Amino acid sequence: MKSLSPDKIRNIALIAHGDAGKTTLAEAMLFTGGAVSRMGKVDDGSSALDFAENEKKRQITINLGLGHCTWNGTKVNILDCPGYADFYGDVKAGLRVADAAIVVLAAPAGVEVGTELVWQMIESSNQPRMICVNKMDKEHADFRKCLDAAADVLGARVAPVVVPIGAAEGFKGVVDLIEQKAYITEGSGKAKKEDIPADMAEEVAELRTQLIEAAAESDEGLMEKFFSDEELTPDEIRGGLRAGVAAATIVPAVATVATSTAGVEPLLDLVAGVMPAPADTPEVRGTKPGGEDEVTLPATADAPFSALVFKTVSEQHVGELLFFRVYSGTMSSGSDVLNSTKNESERMGSIYALIGHDRKEMESVSAGDIAGVVKLKITSTGDTLCTKANPIVLPTVELPKPVLSEAVKSKTKGDEEKIATGLAKLHEEDPTFTAGYDRVIKQTIISGLGVLHLDVMIEKLKDKFGVELEREKPRIPFRETIRATASAEGKYKKQTGGRGQFGVAWLRLEPVERGSGFEFANEVVGGSIPSKFIPAVEKGVKERMEAGVLAGYPVVDVKVAVYDGKFHPVDSNENAFKMAGSIGFRLAAADANPVLLEPIYSITVTVPDEYLGDVMSDVSSRRGKIRETGQRGRYQVVTALVPLAELYKYSTHLRSITQGRGFYEQEFSHYEEVPGDVQAKVVAESEKSEEVA
Ligand code: GDP
Repeated sequence: MKSLSPDKIRNIALIAHGDAGKTTLAEAMLFTGGAVSRMGKVDDGSSALDFAENEKKRQITINLGLGHCTWNGTKVNILDCPGYADFYGDVKAGLRVADAAIVVLAAPAGVEVGTELVWQMIESSNQPRMICVNKMDKEHADFRKCLDAAADVLGARVAPVVVPIGAAEGFKGVVDLIEQKAYITEGSGKAKKEDIPADMAEEVAELRTQLIEAAAESDEGLMEKFFSDEELTPDEIRGGLRAGVAAATIVPAVATVATSTAGVEPLLDLVAGVMPAPADTPEVRGTKPGGEDEVTLPATADAPFSALVFKTVSEQHVGELLFFRVYSGTMSSGSDVLNSTKNESERMGSIYALIGHDRKEMESVSAGDIAGVVKLKITSTGDTLCTKANPIVLPTVELPKPVLSEAVKSKTKGDEEKIATGLAKLHEEDPTFTAGYDRVIKQTIISGLGVLHLDVMIEKLKDKFGVELEREKPRIPFRETIRATASAEGKYKKQTGGRGQFGVAWLRLEPVERGSGFEFANEVVGGSIPSKFIPAVEKGVKERMEAGVLAGYPVVDVKVAVYDGKFHPVDSNENAFKMAGSIGFRLAAADANPVLLEPIYSITVTVPDEYLGDVMSDVSSRRGKIRETGQRGRYQVVTALVPLAELYKYSTHLRSITQGRGFYEQEFSHYEEVPGDVQAKVVAESEKSEEVA
């Protein structure tokens, strides 16, 4: 297979609010482009892109789907991204490697919450985009209203390019305003090219003026022509649009009915003729491995190879399949490469062109193109592959951080090891999902982007690894500390016939600054404890600190000094002094005004203006302290410090009080003393559980 020139490739991500018809549109593009012989349907599970069992069951896109077709000699790589916030990791991954996005709206609904959220993502990276108003055949479909909402709510400078003929039951087809041709739908998958219906002449003229004005904006020559009422040629319009789209100042809009493929031909024309190609970014920018120095490579097929792995899928019996985009050079299967992120060698396995789960082996893949590769040993999502001679690390995929944690345990005893392996594999596949055993709270904690995300992961674990998990509420990793200085005698004495056990250590405990941990000082003079037993005293202290003195949580931020003691030449040994250290610590801590510390998290909540009041009062009711509020576009960003104990299921609650429009990130900040009533409750619970045990 000869390598494709990077100006003959388009990498397009489809993004939307769930249910707008993205996957159906992707199927329609594949079908119209001749890549599949039958149009797959989401509804009966025959979709080429939503082929995973959990996607068929829920009829939603969970995994980033990959497909491609050829249109007017251009290869169009389609990245069908999920539409639910729970799977935004894959949206970020898809957008990272796409040169442009198609934002799909459902015509009856217009701009929805999910549209705003994905719009924000492309807005922040200034990514070129177009809007597709889909479902024009549905009741209440209104193309103009959708474009107005895109302008008002999203702030888009919209240029209508493909407009509908009729709407809802009266939908007949579309008009391509550039070529001035009508596509009249004739049953599924077919359209007849005709002249524009006479009764639409006025409307078309008006919309076309809007289009031309937008196209002319980015080019002075075109602007002059426009103002002198000269006709712009289709190529001039495309040229003008191209510049505006590349700068992300203009957003072309098309109307479609994905289920019947209406509008999809001119949509593909627009993708191939106007949307940016990899060749439009002639330089690949990255950094030198292990440093910050910038490295650049030409984005051409004959340059040194560089590629970014943006997604890992693992299928039983097949192993891991990694999706990657080549940014420069050409790569064939079996070649040796460098994983510059991990600084290790890697060998490329077979390389595939993918349409959903159908794969065709490719001999090589070159700059600008997207493919899958198998049998890589050390590479995972976000890594760069390149040549040893020209190492470069490409900007990685910036994934959202987990916002929801749950504790889980095995349904059946004895599965623990399999569960640990399975969870680790799932994390590798999807880094927005994390899992691990927490020693302090003695629970396995899984974290992800939402309830649905965790549901899907638990299901995957069952399907792929045959082990089942049960959910439980996570315990809070409290800590304990002291607030005063106190001393006590730790005495351990046992006489049980024969040789006894004897050791006495006087300890003084002092509070130290929060976060400074543990200090130990030996102030014994005159050999009241032989120095060989001092480490045993320290060991006893540490063990007691781990086990806690109030409610079983580790003690932190204490200085312990051993300053006196007694020993016996025969009965003293390490164990006796260890016990003395432990007892001394417990007794002194009880007098040192002990207190529970709780983890405080810093949260950043992003919400539209109208929810700010609700969010702030909700944060306060969670013992939270607002640190800062600020405006970001149409959104308010609130930073606050909130105890972890009050954040359980917060993401679900936030979604419900903001109609799904709010989202947040959290990060551990520090430990703080808990209020007296909370402490009393935790201590009482720990005493109760000790009684049961
Ligand atoms: P996604 O969640 O955005 O990927 O949306 P899907 O492609 O899964 O489509 C959601 C539902 O809308 C499915 O039942 C589709 O058959 C249906 N659908 C998609 N496009 C159209 C359309 O243009 N017209 C109509 N009437 N239904 C559509």
